[in-house]
Amino acid sequence: MKKPVIGIVGSFLTDKRDKFIGVSLDYNNNNYSKCIVKALGIPIYLPVIKDLSIIDDQLNICDGLLFPGGYDINPICYNQSPLPLQGESNSLVDWYQITLAKKSLKTNKPILGICRGMQLLNVASSGTLFQDICYGIQSPLQHNQNSYLGEKCHPICIYDDSILKNTLGNHYVVNSGHHQCLDKIGDNFKVTAVAPDGVIESIEMINKDFVIGVQWHPEMLSLNDDIMLGLFKKFIDTSRILI
Ligand code: MN
Repeated sequence: MKKPVIGIVGSFLTDKRDKFIGVSLDYNNNNYSKCIVKALGIPIYLPVIKDLSIIDDQLNICDGLLFPGGYDINPICYNQSPLPLQGESNSLVDWYQITLAKKSLKTNKPILGICRGMQLLNVASSGTLFQDICYGIQSPLQHNQNSYLGEKCHPICIYDDSILKNTLGNHYVVNSGHHQCLDKIGDNFKVTAVAPDGVIESIEMINKDFVIGVQWHPEMLSLNDDIMLGLFKKFIDTSRILI
């Protein structure tokens, strides 16, 4: 059985060592790779690059794509000016990831967006964000938990008629490490899970086999939570079927 190749979309971390100070390091949380391997996929890393034809080549060698967590997205990307609680962003990472997202959303390749990754799929589809949850939600829960992200934080309600419900059921408790959330939903997406305060916790693209965004961090739970690992398994299984 051929294992599907899953591209983990790249991001930057700034090097703080004296000899390399200010250099952009390619980086990702290694838990993404661990979860892909556990779900029987082959993880590969897609570095941030500026060359459009190479971005096409990167996409072509992947059977599925994982858009990971990371910085805030610059609100310029969804035609808004920054408000006081907007966080740090990186314009090259935004450009690269949105370019790759737009290209990949035109294919039928399975896509999993996690935290920033979900917000990025939304912005790449003409959706918008609340630059901080307090700008859009009247009585928010704590969504940026102080505990380690291996701990769970708040419940979510998962809608019927979603891929996610087949994996997690109608109710689940997730971790939470975000201070922004979705406002206007992107073209061809539907909301599939919400927190009790109304914060959107999951979206799925309609008429696609597997294009899902989740606001929590399944990669921080799935190594000890077989039900949550089911989300990666569904992602990898769909990627294999579509090869
Ligand atoms: Mn949350």
